[in-house]
Amino acid sequence: MIVDVLIAGAGGAGYPAAFRLDKAGLKVVMADPKGELGGNCLYQGCVPSKTLRELAHLYVRAKKLLGFNETISFEKAQDHKDFVQETRFKQHKQELAESSVEFYKGEVEIIDNHHAVIKDEKGDVQVEYKYLILATGSEPFKPKFPGSEYCITSDDLYKYKTSIRKLPKEMVIIGGGYIALETASIMNALGTKVHVLVRSDRVLRGLDSRLVSSLLSMLDKNIDIRFNSPVIEVQKIGDKDEYKVIYSEKSEKKEISADLVMLATGRRPVYPKGTEKLGLAIGKTGIMVDETIVTSVKNIYAPGDVNGRSMFFHSAVRQSLVSAHNILAGTPIDYMDFQSVPISVFTIPSIAYVGILPEEAKRRGIDIIEASYPLSKDSRAQMYDEAEGEVRLFFERGSLRIIGGWIIGIDAPTMINEIGTAVANGLTARQMANYADQHPMSNESISYAARSIF
Ligand code: ADP
Repeated sequence: MIVDVLIAGAGGAGYPAAFRLDKAGLKVVMADPKGELGGNCLYQGCVPSKTLRELAHLYVRAKKLLGFNETISFEKAQDHKDFVQETRFKQHKQELAESSVEFYKGEVEIIDNHHAVIKDEKGDVQVEYKYLILATGSEPFKPKFPGSEYCITSDDLYKYKTSIRKLPKEMVIIGGGYIALETASIMNALGTKVHVLVRSDRVLRGLDSRLVSSLLSMLDKNIDIRFNSPVIEVQKIGDKDEYKVIYSEKSEKKEISADLVMLATGRRPVYPKGTEKLGLAIGKTGIMVDETIVTSVKNIYAPGDVNGRSMFFHSAVRQSLVSAHNILAGTPIDYMDFQSVPISVFTIPSIAYVGILPEEAKRRGIDIIEASYPLSKDSRAQMYDEAEGEVRLFFERGSLRIIGGWIIGIDAPTMINEIGTAVANGLTARQMANYADQHPMSNESISYAARSIF
């Protein structure tokens, strides 16, 4: 078949462009071996993990504020997670049915930069395309060590209809990124004893260190985080789910027993078979793209995790739309603002940030003024007795334009959007201070923080 646009992958980087281009009258074909829209985010990533996180948070709050002392049903929590995923799969099916996008359940294999084949269940489909959107996302990186085959990844824990439906008693998580910490926090809140083995002396590499230390000081002390503790081996004991994790600490061999071991050692881009035939420039994080999301080959776009610049669903969605707009116009008319993408770590409590933070401002030689407001003064934080943390805004000295901000504590991933909108639109401290945020919600702390410098 001859199409205007072939889209490989139906995640956040794929389907928004599909619908946009279809609406504009282009012939669009999209394929994904999952046979569902939503990508890894919906199938085994953000949506299911955040569903469990919400349930875990409910449980923590009910215990703390209402004296609730029953143990939870993990099976029921997983059932609810599956239900949310199903609801969204259905919603996407409806969107697909209302469009003219042709969708195949199968992998795309590249032949050259105008031809590909979709390995559909019912047989191969040959496609000739004008434009290709490579939206094949990423997958967990699994380092090899003796016994690494006994480790699950977050995909196994969160995937649709997962077989992990019994709450582990003791769990080891290997890694120090956001997936490791979020999962540690969720499982700890649900009642698992969690150990986190971090290879180096810090978690959340690349994040401002003040933000990281604040988070660490607020995490539940029952989460056992061991730094400078690289894993040597995982052994399976007998034929049940019992494992011994052997790691080194100060050159000494140590071990922890667990009934579940999870690897959370980063994600890597996924390239379709035959990608090498496209002659694309590939950089350190993935397929190289500029702000128009075009690759080094002018009819090929690579939004989302596959370019590794900003591996988050909401970023992928916007990059997908940027690709669609530039394809439609045939010339660059839309640009991705990578700097204003909000980033959250959904631990309990959570953190979120956007834009330029102090360490980066220093590296770039930007002189900043900080404005902050403690959540101990926030009414909603008091209602939940989650009054630790703060809102902190960073303004460029002189212009007083906001360049970044962070929230540590209650509602951080929701609240960050207001700061993100301010960063994306270059609002000033005065404009933010003059806004009457909804009372008695935590967003109020944002305008209070801005007002603190006047
Ligand atoms: P993003 O957020 O960038 O969209 P995801 O990882 O959520 O990334 O989604 C990428 C999707 O691409 C997944 O659903 C995956 O099944 C799909 N995919 C991976 N390889 C191929 C391929 N060769 N052809 C089509 N789809 C693919």
